[in-house]
Amino acid sequence: MKVVSPAFEILTPIDGIEILKTIEAVGRTCYKSEDKITDDSCVNFVQGIINRGHEAVIEHYNITVRLTNDRGVSHEEVRHRIASYAQESTRYCNYAKDKFGNEITYIDIRGGMELDPKVSKLDVAIQSQIYDEWVDACLDAEKHYNKMISLGATPQIARSVLNNSTKTEICITMNIREWRHFFDLRCSPAAHPQMREIAIMLLKAFKTMIPVVFDDLYKKYVTDAKTE
Ligand SMILES: Cc1cc2nc3c(=O)[nH]c(=O)nc-3n(C[C@H](O)[C@H](O)[C@H](O)COP(=O)(O)OP(=O)(O)OC[C@H]3O[C@@H](n4cnc5c(N)ncnc54)[C@H](O)[C@@H]3O)c2cc1C
Repeated sequence: MKVVSPAFEILTPIDGIEILKTIEAVGRTCYKSEDKITDDSCVNFVQGIINRGHEAVIEHYNITVRLTNDRGVSHEEVRHRIASYAQESTRYCNYAKDKFGNEITYIDIRGGMELDPKVSKLDVAIQSQIYDEWVDACLDAEKHYNKMISLGATPQIARSVLNNSTKTEICITMNIREWRHFFDLRCSPAAHPQMREIAIMLLKAFKTMIPVVFDDLYKKYVTDAKTE
């Protein structure tokens, strides 16, 4: 078995100012104030749009990302309905083949354990035992998966023994309004810690590229030193 950390890749080429200019062009249609467009007017315009809650205007730009996280987290991601998805298929991918190193790849739970306030307060030795139990369960699932495949089972049948920690890759396309909604729900301390882990990683990147649109959410949720 292989254990990897969650990761992301932004597939849409991002030019923050060009995005704001597109949104400004859309939004000024409402007020017929195109005459007010200058080289940098888009920054204040988009800020005003967000402050006033006129968020329909920011639906006019989509961003696509590829996330690497576990299947438990991906199940939460696909609950967001105003989005498009393409996900690694456990029906078709045969992890017992050379292409996958003949092993199951799992997403490390340590990031989630650190973000879970009850678990992170436990004695370090206990945390270590919890982690070891997880490793054993993953090894066990891999053993049974490989055995089922060697007996002739198809991946879509053998996958039944894989657990929520199984690594998946999922491409997600959302418009900027839906990304804001996604971050608002998924960076919150109420979210699942591993969902929160990947959502905060992504929010940091989005905030760097398009600060006007994501600054408020960054300030709201990325304050805990553990998420830095
Ligand atoms: C902390 C947390 C705990 C959760 N626990 C559970 C759980 O125990 N069980 C469970 O099943 N799910 C759970 N969920 C998932 C949750 O119920 C939503 O499915 C998920 O968060 C998607 O959010 P959403 O519905 O707001 O938005 P999206 O699907 O992203 O849609 C965006 C927005 O569009 C609007 N919208 C979309 N579809 C409709 C519609 N049909 N009618 C009206 N308005 C619509 C709403 O304003 C919505 O907020 C949890 C989510 C969180 C964040």
